[in-house]
Amino acid sequence: MVILLADAFAPDLPGRLATFGEVTSDMSRLGDAEVLIVRSKTKVDKAMIDAAPKCRYIIRGGVGVDTIDVEYAKSKGIAVDNTPEASSLAVAELAFALMIAMPNHLVRADNSMKEGKWLKKELERTELNGKTLGLIGIGRIGHELALRAKAFGMSVIAYDKYVTSSEVASLVSLDEVYAKSDYISLHTPLTDETRGMINAASIAKMKKGVYLINTCRGQVVVEQDIADALNSGKMAGYATDVYNKEPPEGSPLLKAPNVLMTPHLGASTEENLLRLGDSIVARLKKYSGK
Ligand code: NAD
Repeated sequence: MVILLADAFAPDLPGRLATFGEVTSDMSRLGDAEVLIVRSKTKVDKAMIDAAPKCRYIIRGGVGVDTIDVEYAKSKGIAVDNTPEASSLAVAELAFALMIAMPNHLVRADNSMKEGKWLKKELERTELNGKTLGLIGIGRIGHELALRAKAFGMSVIAYDKYVTSSEVASLVSLDEVYAKSDYISLHTPLTDETRGMINAASIAKMKKGVYLINTCRGQVVVEQDIADALNSGKMAGYATDVYNKEPPEGSPLLKAPNVLMTPHLGASTEENLLRLGDSIVARLKKYSGK
């Protein structure tokens, strides 16, 4: 069988997959591919599925299948899978890094030093210790972030529509997360329920000076409403790895104050690429029976 690796994976993955069939990353072989393996970059839409008539299995190395037209794939008899267990630590560490960078002004301090400025008085820091972190979504990544936040002396509360107990956070209503949190971190999938859930109305319920961290999906927030809240001072900072459109060309966030941006790096650790490889190999073993 032909296995098409459409996106970048660990360098050893093609060799590891060779036991299951012919491995290629040549997109002109799409028509021959029985297995299509993607990360976030390749969007598997109807046109792509139509161009892959032999395809029987699509694996997304990552959490969620929102970059794949799952219904259409299924209608063509194609199974769709992802590797949700692999990336939690990598994303939780990035969320934590974004959270701790904001009150410590790490980026502004570094930039100003290189501009020859000494902003010792201007850059007053605040501590995470004693603050409340509110999680929206406490699945795998939210859980790992909660553990790290508690180690820094934060209180952790969480709202999750589908989770009824947690060992690491007090579960509260969504409005309580908005009202009580000094930091809010988003960890839901992108669904019809979560699309645009952080908007002017929900921001109005948050504390003045709240910090928001988004490592889930850009479309969970309304970027213009975030930019307005940053401009008015209602929100003290927005740190994000994900955008309405990626790259975020023309986004109002690019001109708003106190925005910290990374280019969708959540899953991009060396260790995670190896874990993704392990998860993909395990899935192909099962699929091929080898
Ligand atoms: P998960 O499935 O373990 O957890 C998601 C949680 O969200 C679940 O507990 C679920 O009950 C909850 N949820 C669903 N709908 C909700 C709603 N309407 N309101 C409140 N909670 C709701 O997933 P995870 O592994 O923790 O990943 C979370 C998300 O992170 C993924 O769906 C993906 O979009 C994103 N992600 C981003 C990167 C990145 O590179 N930045 C990498 C991996 C995952």
